[in-house]
Amino acid sequence: MSGTHYDVVISGAGMVGATLACLLAKSAKRVAVLEVIPPPVFKASDDFELRVSALSRFSQQILEQAGAWEGVINRRAVAYENMVVWDATGSGEIHFSAAELGEPELGHIVENKIIQLALLEAMEAQTAIDLFCPSKVQSFVRDGAHMVVTLDDGRELAAELLVGADGARSAVRELAGIGWQREDYAQKGLVCVVRTELPHQATAWQRFMPSGPLAFLPLSDPHYSSIVWTLPADRADVLVKQDDTQFKAALSAALGSRLGMVEVIGARGAFPLVGSHAECYVQEGVALIGDAAHTIHPLAGQGVNLGIKDAAELAQQLIVAKGHLGSMKTLRRYERARKGDNHLTQKTMEGFRLLFGNNSQPLQLVRNSGLNLANHLPLVKNTLVRQAMGV
Ligand SMILES: Cc1cc2nc3c(=O)[nH]c(=O)nc-3n(C[C@H](O)[C@H](O)[C@H](O)COP(=O)(O)OP(=O)(O)OC[C@H]3O[C@@H](n4cnc5c(N)ncnc54)[C@H](O)[C@@H]3O)c2cc1C
Repeated sequence: MSGTHYDVVISGAGMVGATLACLLAKSAKRVAVLEVIPPPVFKASDDFELRVSALSRFSQQILEQAGAWEGVINRRAVAYENMVVWDATGSGEIHFSAAELGEPELGHIVENKIIQLALLEAMEAQTAIDLFCPSKVQSFVRDGAHMVVTLDDGRELAAELLVGADGARSAVRELAGIGWQREDYAQKGLVCVVRTELPHQATAWQRFMPSGPLAFLPLSDPHYSSIVWTLPADRADVLVKQDDTQFKAALSAALGSRLGMVEVIGARGAFPLVGSHAECYVQEGVALIGDAAHTIHPLAGQGVNLGIKDAAELAQQLIVAKGHLGSMKTLRRYERARKGDNHLTQKTMEGFRLLFGNNSQPLQLVRNSGLNLANHLPLVKNTLVRQAMGV
């Protein structure tokens, strides 16, 4: 058989694909990783990046196993201790607190490029990983027990398994002919960095409005937060182009007075929000993980956490597999373990989106009293938050 031989070829060195590569290499699997975009650069003096993730405790544990957590925590990461969620149409409010759970924090807010950089460093430290960058899959064929992957420069790699970790527009999913269901929410997530008059108090603030939630996620400076503001797509397109004064007025009106005056720092971006799910995650010799398999609404910041769970589960199945890594027997175990959880989380987020996105009076009453009631039921609250933390 032609081509350099690996155990696994991974398409995509994003947060999810790089996590899988590190976990496999730590168990002596030979891995090739293909990535189209050059590695990010970071200096401590850099401005905060637009895209951040709220990493759960479970994701932290997996990044520790992958050898990347030190690279995250030694740069810029904020442990958030509280989360306050309230309804703009009434008095409903719920407060989640790490102290109430007897935990040091609920999770960490980290800039995406820092997570990626830490994972790339962890990959570099593993001699079992070869990174091909810039590079992508042109095509692949099954040749007996192997996948022969042809890269865009004509090189060939052979492996028992090809993993698509190449994001929502996965080329591997496309080339494998795996169908997917897709719901365009007709919304965009507007992101930017803001300076607030009052400190964020290591708290993630989220206000639900009928047009969509607005989240303030704390950054390493106590007066800086990263916002994710869900809006109808056309409104987001207008706001992203407004001058700073107009945008600041709109944002201050949306947040209310919780953090005092708001000053907008740097650029803004707006990302289309789409819910999608692949019809299957696996076929002989092929597996999908992360956004290549599913995307969800960012209102509870769970997208990358679900992807990291996929990477951890697939790594586990491949490490304990007795036979061929690309066999359906092994891959179905991964799919069975992850598809239901991803589906349930996706549907739960859609339920929240519809519940809070509705202006009807009876629903406003139900959700406001529901939030207040849950706020006084520690068992309900703690179960909810432990689920989100993945512990
Ligand atoms: C506005 C917004 C806010 C969000 N906030 C949060 C949050 O707070 N917490 C959270 O958990 N999630 C959040 N998410 C979701 C999260 O960003 C994604 O779930 C996560 O980035 C998925 O990671 P991934 O590695 O699977 O895919 P991606 O991040 O898309 O990475 C895919 C990688 O593959 C590479 N690639 C693409 N095509 C190819 C190819 N053909 N060949 C080789 N490489 C390729 C890309 O360059 C990239 O590096 C948010 C999403 C949005 C839109």
